[in-house]
Amino acid sequence: MGALIKMTPELDLSFDVVVIGAGIAGLSVALSLPPTLRIAIISRSFTVTSSHWAKGGVAAACKHGDEPAEHLRDTIEAGGGLNDPDQVALLVGAAPEAIDFLQRQGVDFEVKPEREAGHSQPRIWHADGDATGGAIMRALSTRQREAPNLTEIEGSLIEILNDDNGVVGIMIAHRGSLVLVRSPRVVLASGGATGLWSDHTSPNSNLGNGIVNAYRVGASVADLEFTQFHPTAIALSTSPLSLATEALRGAGAWIVDDEGKRFLFEADPAGELATRDKVARIMYRHPGQAYLDPRPIGRENLERRFPTFVQDCRQRGHDPVLHGPVPIRPAAHYTIGGVLTGSYGETSVPGLYAIGECASTGVHGANRLASNSLLEGVVFGRRAADHLVDVSRTLHGVYYPGSVDLPTRAPTRASLTHLVDGALGIERNASAISSATERLVNASSTVEMGPCNAWELTLASELISMMLIAARERSGTVGSHTRSDERPEDPNYRLTFVKGSTLRREVRPK
Ligand SMILES: Cc1cc2nc3c(=O)[nH]c(=O)nc-3n(C[C@H](O)[C@H](O)[C@H](O)COP(=O)(O)OP(=O)(O)OC[C@H]3O[C@@H](n4cnc5c(N)ncnc54)[C@H](O)[C@@H]3O)c2cc1C
Repeated sequence: MGALIKMTPELDLSFDVVVIGAGIAGLSVALSLPPTLRIAIISRSFTVTSSHWAKGGVAAACKHGDEPAEHLRDTIEAGGGLNDPDQVALLVGAAPEAIDFLQRQGVDFEVKPEREAGHSQPRIWHADGDATGGAIMRALSTRQREAPNLTEIEGSLIEILNDDNGVVGIMIAHRGSLVLVRSPRVVLASGGATGLWSDHTSPNSNLGNGIVNAYRVGASVADLEFTQFHPTAIALSTSPLSLATEALRGAGAWIVDDEGKRFLFEADPAGELATRDKVARIMYRHPGQAYLDPRPIGRENLERRFPTFVQDCRQRGHDPVLHGPVPIRPAAHYTIGGVLTGSYGETSVPGLYAIGECASTGVHGANRLASNSLLEGVVFGRRAADHLVDVSRTLHGVYYPGSVDLPTRAPTRASLTHLVDGALGIERNASAISSATERLVNASSTVEMGPCNAWELTLASELISMMLIAARERSGTVGSHTRSDERPEDPNYRLTFVKGSTLRREVRPK
């Protein structure tokens, strides 16, 4: 049984472009479009996004002695060779311009870039020490509020609407009503899905609903088996877990066990400077509690360069300056797969774009290199803006559903989390995946709840089912996807879902 919800006609809205999401990707596209366009930015939140919480920084090879070609090499090395090399070349080539764009919006980057794990050069640009995301979002939000052509609407995406010619708008839940927002161009910038795991670093609302909505109107989605687990989430609270930025390891912090031993070197010669996937896997396999020991950085340096880390720990009852090692554990951190896009963020549905963490541009391969994500949001946001203005699209006819049918039963969030933790954690295997797949089918429509809540969890279940298929099909270990029952065949494909069918798309071998 579903709930038939009446539309609110007096709130029927119309815009040249609709952007869903107010993180770095959404605001970069909105601020890069011509001021003559009427643009709606629709988001669940304008202040709580992964972008606001980003700590490390933005990667860009724009200092003497570093080259985009080296940034490209590091990105593909970290991605296990499954990256799309043309897309990576676009990303790293446009990185200096992205930094320039952010500076023009008012971001005050520090004078010298720093080095981080996986990067062969110091190329991570910080602002406000280890609160770079907050500094960037303050600047972008100020610009957004100053722009008279940008309208801010708080709301949740319910559905993307399309006809035979492509998108025609979206349906949102807004202050207890359903509202139709018409537009010939819809940009999805709704972030990732890491809130599906019990241990995560992103806002709890990151459930990947945007990705499923795009799939439901025919967009292809890809690489859903790849979720990055960050090794150094601070284990002093429940989720969302605060993050000990990668830059701490870059600055010299150690990862140690209960006895103070730096155990990473037993498995990887790069030790603390190995990429996230490797460090997370080694920690997962090492018995006992792991700690981040910041003392090698030095007290003065720690307080000056990592004030957010120090404050986060102190707020949770542990002073890292006075007492040293901080308990850490890996947590779901970044959704690598998503809506499959071309080099301008365009999807397979005319008028629908996807940018930022909800997109699968192919730049990250099987494991994202640190600090490439904020960069991706800006670079592909700006490219999507260029494409949007070049492609003319108009709406024909006036589609107006008088009411919408939403479910009122769905699995509970706790049951979904439990299932995801068991089958889609750092190490996966066929038997856990197939038992989770069965349980997911049986869990559908189990609990009575409000229609918007039920819809959100129904979409989350659909995403989990696609993630399970992707994880089952990739029988080898690569990047962030570790199969404990590894069969080493077919390591070199990307799995692409097209509505109604599943197909494999070959990429170039390593
Ligand atoms: C703690 C932390 C630290 C990080 N540090 C770094 C770093 O140092 N460098 C780096 O490059 N990357 C970092 N990352 C990753 C990076 O921050 C994100 O990948 C990036 O900010 C994603 O940007 P986005 O604009 O795509 O999405 P987000 O910033 O997640 O924004 C998504 C937006 O969509 C809205 N939304 C979501 N679902 C819906 C819906 N159904 N309806 C309407 N609106 C919706 C949200 O409210 C939000 O406004 C970090 C991530 C975390 C969590």
